[in-house]
Amino acid sequence: MSKKLQAIRGMHDILPDKTPLWQMLEKQMAEVCQQYGYAEIRMPLVESTDLFCRSIGEVTDIVEKEMYSFDDRNGDSLSLRPEGTASCVRAGLEHGLFYNQIQRLWYQGPMFRHERPQKGRYRQFHQIGIECFGMSGAEIEAEIILMSYRLWQKLGIAGELTLELNTLGTLEERAAYKDILVGYFKQHIDALDEDSVRRLKTNPLRILDSKNPHMQALIEAAPQLLNSLGAESVEHFEQLQSYLNDAGVSFKCNPRLVRGLDYYSHTVFEWTTTSLGAQGTVCAGGRYDGLIDQLGGKQTPAVGLAMGVERLILLLEQHEWSVHSPLAYIVYQGDKARKEAIQLAERLRNQLPGEGIVLHCGAGSLKSQFKKADKVGASLALILGEEEVEENKVSIKFLRNRQEQQLLPEDELVVFLQNNS
Ligand code: ATP
Ligand code: MG
Repeated sequence: MSKKLQAIRGMHDILPDKTPLWQMLEKQMAEVCQQYGYAEIRMPLVESTDLFCRSIGEVTDIVEKEMYSFDDRNGDSLSLRPEGTASCVRAGLEHGLFYNQIQRLWYQGPMFRHERPQKGRYRQFHQIGIECFGMSGAEIEAEIILMSYRLWQKLGIAGELTLELNTLGTLEERAAYKDILVGYFKQHIDALDEDSVRRLKTNPLRILDSKNPHMQALIEAAPQLLNSLGAESVEHFEQLQSYLNDAGVSFKCNPRLVRGLDYYSHTVFEWTTTSLGAQGTVCAGGRYDGLIDQLGGKQTPAVGLAMGVERLILLLEQHEWSVHSPLAYIVYQGDKARKEAIQLAERLRNQLPGEGIVLHCGAGSLKSQFKKADKVGASLALILGEEEVEENKVSIKFLRNRQEQQLLPEDELVVFLQNNS
C-alpha cells in the first residue's frame, strides 16, 4: 500500500471554514495601513542564505537552528525566508527606495522556521509586517504602535493584549553594557545553564530572555541596561512613552525585553496575551538603525514590527463571529428550467453584486437540492420548475424561518431579495 499523502509537519492547510476569519483580519489590516499612508510591498519567499546570516546574525536562534536552507541546482545556498525585514531591506537597497526618501511599507505572507511545532508555533506561519525607513524620531515608533493598537481595537481584542516596552540604546551603549553583563554572569557562572554559558560568548543579552526558573533570581539581580544609557537615548525613550501616554495607550516597561535578533537598537516592544499559553507574543518590533548600513547601504534609520497571524487567529477564534452566508440558492427541475436557472443566477449577480447567489449544479430531487441549499447556509431557495419557467415566475422558499412559500413574477425578484437580505 502506498504511504498516505500528508502536509509537512508544522505546515498547515487553512481550510475553508477558517479563511473568512483570515480574510477579515487581512481586510482590517489593509484598511489601517491605508489610513496611515502605508504602501504594500511583496517580496520573494526565497532569498540567498547569506542575506539572513548578515542581517539576523550568525549566532541567533533563527540562523543557528531554524532556517530551511538548501542548495539550488547551481550550488548557491538559498533559504526560505524566516522573517520579512531582511528581505524588505534587500528589496529597498536593490531598487533605491532608501535614497533620500521616506518609506512607509507593509507586507504579509508566509515565513518558515524549523521549530518544534506546538499550539501557536509552526514551521510555516504567517506574518503581517510594517517597516518604515528614513525617520529617526520616537514619533514613528509611536505611529506603528498606534497602528497595531488600532487594529486590536477593530478586531475587539485590545483588552486582551499588553504592550511591553524597552530600550536597547545605541549599538555602542549596548556593547558597553554587554561587557558589564558578561562580567556579572561570569561571577555567577556556576548558576548558569548550558545554553546561557554558550550565550555568554555569543549573545549575552539573550541570557536575560531565559525562561529557566532556576536562573530567574540571578537575572532579576543583573545590572540593567537603562543605567548604561546616555542622555540622548534616555530622552528618546521618554519621548516615546509620553506620546503613548497622550494617545491613551497603556504599557509596561520591561528591562528584560531584549528580542532575539541582532539588528535592534533603541526601542523594542512586544504585544503579549495570557490567553494563548506559552506562545503569548502576538506582535513584536523595534528600531533597527544599524541594519541597512550592515547590509551595504547608507546609514538609514528604520523601525518595524511583525505580527504572528496564526496567534491572532487563535485569539479571534475565542470570540463569536458571524459569517456572511449566501442569500439565495437556486434549485430547478428539468432541462428547460436548468437553462433558465443559469441565466437567472447571472442576472441576479449583476444586479445584487454584494450578495451570494449559489446555483445548484447536477441532478437531484427538489428535496435533496433543498438540503444542499441549507448546507451552504443560504437564507432562501429560489425554485424554478416547469410551471415557473412557463409563467416567468420564481417560487421562494424561506429556509431560516417558517414563512410561507411565495410565487413572484421574475421582474419583482430583485426588489424582493434586496428587502430580504
Ligand atoms: P518567539 O519568541 O515566540 O519564538 P520570535 O521572537 O522568534 O517569537 P519574531 O521573529 O519577533 O518572533 O516574529 C514576530 C512574531 O511572529 C512573533 O511575535 C510571533 O507572533 C510570530 N511567530 C514567530 N515565530 C513563529 C512560529 N514559529 N509560529 C507562529 N508564529 C510565530
Ligand atoms: Mg522564535
